[in-house]
Amino acid sequence: MSNILIKNISLCACMDDGASELKDCDILTEDNRIKKIGVGIKADADTVIDGKNKIALPGFVNTHHHFYQTMTRALPRVTDAKLFDWLIYLYRIWEHLSPEWVEVSTKLAVGELFLSGCTTSLDHYYVFPQRTENLIDVEIDTARKLGLRFHPTRGSMSLSVKDGGLPPDSVVQKDEEILKDTERLLKKYHDYQDFAMTRIVNAPCSPFSVSTGIMKESILFARKHRILSHTHLAETIDEEEFCKEKFGATPVKYMEQVGWLGKDVLFAHCVHLSKDDMKLLGGTGSCVAHCPTSNLRLGSGIAPIRTLMENGATVSIGVDGSASNDSSNMLLEVRNAMLVARVRTGVESMPARDAFYMATRGGAKALGRNDIGELSEGKAADIALYEGRDIAFGGTGDALAALLFCGRDFTASDVICNGKIVVKNKQLQIFDEKEIFDEAGKIFRRDIAPNL
Ligand SMILES: [Zn+2]
Repeated sequence: MSNILIKNISLCACMDDGASELKDCDILTEDNRIKKIGVGIKADADTVIDGKNKIALPGFVNTHHHFYQTMTRALPRVTDAKLFDWLIYLYRIWEHLSPEWVEVSTKLAVGELFLSGCTTSLDHYYVFPQRTENLIDVEIDTARKLGLRFHPTRGSMSLSVKDGGLPPDSVVQKDEEILKDTERLLKKYHDYQDFAMTRIVNAPCSPFSVSTGIMKESILFARKHRILSHTHLAETIDEEEFCKEKFGATPVKYMEQVGWLGKDVLFAHCVHLSKDDMKLLGGTGSCVAHCPTSNLRLGSGIAPIRTLMENGATVSIGVDGSASNDSSNMLLEVRNAMLVARVRTGVESMPARDAFYMATRGGAKALGRNDIGELSEGKAADIALYEGRDIAFGGTGDALAALLFCGRDFTASDVICNGKIVVKNKQLQIFDEKEIFDEAGKIFRRDIAPNL
């Protein structure tokens, strides 16, 4: 049994039902859970962390990413391209994915997520080049070794250019192949228990890259096995036009046609929605992964997050893939979520605390979990601490809001995931950052540069 005692935390934002904000408190963990929160806890702990001048939050829950894209960020030809042009160019590079590329990109993404205070992440992996098998296993094994609480998705593409879709033939698969492999991964990795470190998600890529058949069959499969379903939706005007022309419906109405609405469905983006679309999403309790930076970066638009919430949808936050963010910093993403909502629906529509809620409890609910996303006794020992004694926070009146309004490097000082310290004094404890940077450079020169 291992214990960590964090002493004298200046401000602890619990994100519990009562929105508790405790001052000068301690947190004691026991193995992978929070054992006690309170003032003056006495315990003979293995590790003691000084919480003075620090702000504690539950580890963030990131609900949309594409780890493999960390190796194709800020590429010159597509830094200024819109989604469909960006994708058509990048598919030709991603078809060269290799085991080493997947491994190092996972390390980059997990390292960055941890450093920003994120302890749980979904990853939408959907590129399965025909010449290489089981790359997704490399990703899952790597993330598990690094200690991330992980929801990997068995993504897919089955509608290539010749069938009216967007991706090339080299990266699409047959419907049967996709479902068979999802079942294989489910048996190999999925953990249904509380405090699970790995849960598989069903995730056809998007309405413009998969067949109607796989949408319909995969949601039945997911419901039979009680797993989450995930896809991109209503991201751009181009997608809306595609859906209206091909299916005679908006992207959301198309989801209704294929049986893809409900609490067990999580849609990334949801930028372009009609009033009816929002009622449908909210009325069915469907979940949204809001990705503000990616939407800004690709010029896609600003999602109507506050209105979606008012309609009853669960909203969470995702950094999205690193080719369209191009970082994996969840704290910065929460800041951007707060800012863009104010542009769309007014300054009062997104207080800092609501943005933090989306990134913690909202994320937990979107992933179908109630064991993470809050600092309460009995919940997972997933904790992020931020240093408040920093020039960037000098003269601030609200320490919690200041984490979003002010800030310099948007990096957590200490992060605990599943009861283990993964960041200490702003340094990753899971690998040497410089070594991984050099390894990424080597793989970039070998697998990516020749195809640009
Ligand atoms: Zn995405």
